[in-house]
Amino acid sequence: MTPSDANQPVDFIRAAVMEDLKSARYTRVHTRFPPEPNGYLHIGHAKAICIDFGIAAEFGGKCNLRFDDTNPVKEEVEYVESIQQDIRWLGFDWKDRLFYASDYFEQLYAFAVTLIRKGKAYVCDLSAEKVREYRGTLTEPGRESPYRNRTAEENLDLFARMRAGEFPDGSRTLRAKIDMASGNINLRDPVMYRIIHATHHRTDDAWCVYPMYDFAHGQSDSIEGITHSLCSLEYEDHRPLYDWFLDALEIYHPRQIEFARLNLSSTVLSKRKLLRLVQERHVKGWDDPRMPTLSGLRRRGYSPEAIRDFCNRIGVAKRDSIVDIALLEHCLREDLNRRAPRVMGVLRPLRVVIENLPEGHVEEVTAVNNPEDAAAGTRTLPFSRVLYIEQDDFRENPPPKYYRLAPGREVRLRYAYFIKCVEAVKDAGGAVVELRCTYDPATRGGDAPDGRKVKATIHWVSATHAVPAEVRLYDRLFLKEDPEDVVEGQDFLASLNPNSLQLLTGCWVEPGLAQVKAGTIYQFERQGYFCVDPDSANGTLAFNRAVSLKDEWAKIEKAQGQQPAAGRTA
Ligand code: ATP
Ligand code: MG
Repeated sequence: MTPSDANQPVDFIRAAVMEDLKSARYTRVHTRFPPEPNGYLHIGHAKAICIDFGIAAEFGGKCNLRFDDTNPVKEEVEYVESIQQDIRWLGFDWKDRLFYASDYFEQLYAFAVTLIRKGKAYVCDLSAEKVREYRGTLTEPGRESPYRNRTAEENLDLFARMRAGEFPDGSRTLRAKIDMASGNINLRDPVMYRIIHATHHRTDDAWCVYPMYDFAHGQSDSIEGITHSLCSLEYEDHRPLYDWFLDALEIYHPRQIEFARLNLSSTVLSKRKLLRLVQERHVKGWDDPRMPTLSGLRRRGYSPEAIRDFCNRIGVAKRDSIVDIALLEHCLREDLNRRAPRVMGVLRPLRVVIENLPEGHVEEVTAVNNPEDAAAGTRTLPFSRVLYIEQDDFRENPPPKYYRLAPGREVRLRYAYFIKCVEAVKDAGGAVVELRCTYDPATRGGDAPDGRKVKATIHWVSATHAVPAEVRLYDRLFLKEDPEDVVEGQDFLASLNPNSLQLLTGCWVEPGLAQVKAGTIYQFERQGYFCVDPDSANGTLAFNRAVSLKDEWAKIEKAQGQQPAAGRTA
C-alpha cells in the first residue's frame, strides 16, 4: 500500500501514514473531513478535502464526511446541504459514511460522566468572563477554580441537572481537570460542555448542554475508528488535549496530524468574514462568482479538475504560506485550454458594413471548435454584409505597434476574409459608430493567393445572426494582496475592490450559443473563458468571465526562472 504515483515525492503526512502501516500502529487508513455547517465550503476546505479523501483513496482506505455540528446557534441545514453538494462536485464520495457529531451526543455525554466519575472533570460555576480571567496568560499560570474540588457525586448531580435544563445559559460549565499551570493554555481545565438553550438543526430541543469542539472531535474520531485525523495547523496546540481525553477515557486512539492551511493572496478564507461579505451585501451571495467558495468558483467557471490540480500543486506543508491566486487561475486556464470549445463573442460591439457584399448576402464559413482537440470538430458560422467587431480592434489614429484595423488598413476576420477599412462613420459627438469596409473574396478561409500578409486577425459576429448577451467581467474582490493590511480602525472590508464586477450589456455572441446550458464554459476567442450563468434561465443570456487569457502565473514563473512552485513563504 503506497500512494499511487510513485514518482511524486511523498509529503510528511503520507510518510507518517506509511510509517504507521509499516510499524502496524494501524493496519488500515481511515480519515474524515469534519466541516462545521456554519458556512459554505471554500478553496481552503478543498485543500483539506483533497488531503482527507485523497490519502484515504491512495492507501485503499475510507474517508467519512462528518458534520461537526456542536454549536446550534450558528449552524443551518442550508449549509449541511451545500457542503454535500460541493464535495460531490469536487469529485469525492463518502459512500454510506455520512455522520454528524450530534449523532454521538448521548455517547459523548456518557464519556463526560465517565470522566466525572474518574475525578477528571468537574462542574464549574464561574462565568465565561471569570473562566477567562482565571485561565492566566502565556506568561502567567492560571488559578484554580474555587469549584475544582467538588466531589464526584456533586458533579454528577449538577451535570445531570445542567442537562435537565435547570440552569440558564452561561451559568455553569463542565470542565476537564487537567493543569492550571500548564504551558499549553488548552490544558488549563478546558471547558467540555456549555449550556445553550437553543434549537439544534438535527436534535431539535433534546439538548441544552452542548460539547465543545475539543471534547467532541477526538471522541467522534474514536467512535468512527478513524486512524488519521488530518487537520490544519491551528489545531496543533489542541493535540495534547485531543490525546488527553482519549487517554483519560481509555478508548481507541486515532492520530491527529496537522498541515498548513491554505492562504491565498487577495482573498479572505475565514467563514466569519465570508459570511460578513454576504450579510452586508458586498457580494450577491455565497455563490457570487467573486467568492472563494466552491459554489462561487463553480459559478465563475472553475472546473473540479482545475481545483484538484491546484490542490495537488500546492502540496502539503508544515509551515503556513501564502499561495499566489495567479496559480489558481493558471490551473483553470490549463484545464480549460484543453477542453473549452472556442466561440466568438463581441463584448463591446462596433458595427462594420462590408460595402462590396450585396444586401441580404449570407454565406457559411467553417470554424475550428478546439485547436487543442481535433476530436472537437468544426462548426459553421454565418458571414454577411453587416458584422460586429470589438471597438478596441479599431483605432482612427493607430499608435505604433497597433496592427489591427484603422482607416486604409487590412486585417483578417477569423475563419473568413481579409477586410479593409475605407471609412469611419461618426456620430454628432465625433464618436466612431460604424466602419465601412470592403472584403477581398479571394481570401476566403484567411489567406491571400497573392501572398499578401496582414498583421492581425480579429474576431467578429454576423449582426443579423448573433445572439444578444450580457457579460460579467470579474476582477479580484480585494485590491490588496493581503486584505488585512489596513490602517488602524479599519478592517478587511476597506480593501474591497470597488470595481470587482463590470457588467457589459449589449454584447453579441455567435448564433450557436442561443440554447446553452448554465455552467457550460467557452473560450471567447482572444478574450478569455466564459461560463454560462444560471441567470440565463431568465431570458437574457448571461456569461461570467472565469478568467482572461493573460497568464500572470506564467510570467511570475518565467521571472523566477523555475518550475511551477507551490507558494511563497509568508
Ligand atoms: P473558519 O476558521 O474559516 O471558520 P474552520 O477551519 O473552522 O474555518 P471547518 O468547517 O471547521 O472550518 O473546517 C473543516 C476542515 O477544513 C477542518 O479540518 C479545517 O482544518 C479545514 N480547513 C478549513 N480552512 C482551511 C484552509 N484554509 N486550508 C486548509 N484546510 C482548511
Ligand atoms: Mg472549525
